[in-house]
Order: sequence, then C-alpha cells, then structure tokens
Amino acid sequence: MQYVLVSSCLLGKPVRYDGRGVPNGDAVLARWLDEGRVVAVCPEVAGGMPVPRPPAEIEPGKDAAAVLAGHARVVATTGEDVTAPFVRGAREALAATQGRGIRMAVLKEGSPSCGSGYVYDGHFAGRRRPGVGVTAELLRRAGLQVFSEKQWTEAGACLADLEDGNGR
Ligand code: SF4
Repeated sequence: MQYVLVSSCLLGKPVRYDGRGVPNGDAVLARWLDEGRVVAVCPEVAGGMPVPRPPAEIEPGKDAAAVLAGHARVVATTGEDVTAPFVRGAREALAATQGRGIRMAVLKEGSPSCGSGYVYDGHFAGRRRPGVGVTAELLRRAGLQVFSEKQWTEAGACLADLEDGNGR
C-alpha cells in the first residue's frame, strides 16, 4: 500500500505556532485515514520547536533552497534564528518517508516548512510570495510529489497513478 505523508495540523493536531490545528474534512483525506495510509508529521515539532512558538518566515529575498544550502535563515518574529530546527525538521520528515517508501505528501500551504505553492515574504506583513517551505523543498528534491490542502483532487489522482504503477 502507498502511504501518504500529511501535515499533522491538517489532521487537527494542535501543533501550529499558535497552539492550534487546522483540521481538514476533505473526503479524500477521510478515505485515506480509513484506509490507514496517512503518516502524520509536523516538521517544526520534529525539529525541536515548542508549541506554541513565535511565527517564523524565511528571510526576505531568500528561498528554501538557500536555507538548505546554508545561505539563508529562517527567522522568528522575536528575531531568533530558527534555521537549525527547521532544517532538522525537514530531515526528520524526509526520514519518515523512507521506511515506508512514501512518494507523496499533502502539506499545509503557506507554512515556512510545509508550503508548496506560496510562503510569506519574510517581513511578517502577511504578504505571500510564490515559493515553498523548507520541508517541501527537501521532499521534492528527494522525488516526492508534494501537494497542499487545496489540491486533494490532484493528490487523489496522484495516489491512483502511484498505485497503478506499483500494481498495489
Ligand atoms: Fe507543523 Fe507543517 Fe502544520 Fe506548521 S504547517 S504546524 S510545520 S505540520
């Protein structure tokens, strides 16, 4: 069976920076949960960040690839450099995919770890920019398909393709 990595907060786990979850009721996710194929991960908690924690963003003008290369930082609203736990969390998420041969993920959009279509611009002003979070970048580099919670239909189709290709 193909397992799918899913952001813990989308499963309602209270792991976000604000101490809350963002439970998602999509039918695709409900089916995957019934089928027992969901593997939950919160990269930031896995990397050692507390709950709650100050919001953080990739610094202005930089991207997740630069963070992974050691050329950019992830910074909290307090000014604290939280790059190390973010990178550690991304590696933990990747490690979670390896034992089960996981090839796809659905991660929370907009997060500096989990975003796959946009992140925030680093000025803590609520402005989005196209880009990905640190974990999404590392997973994509490893060949995983990464979707957001706005793409359940596409994610469902991807899973069907993977299962057809694998002959279950
Ligand atoms: Fe954790 Fe990702 Fe959800 Fe943030 S978006 S709380 S890092 S699972």
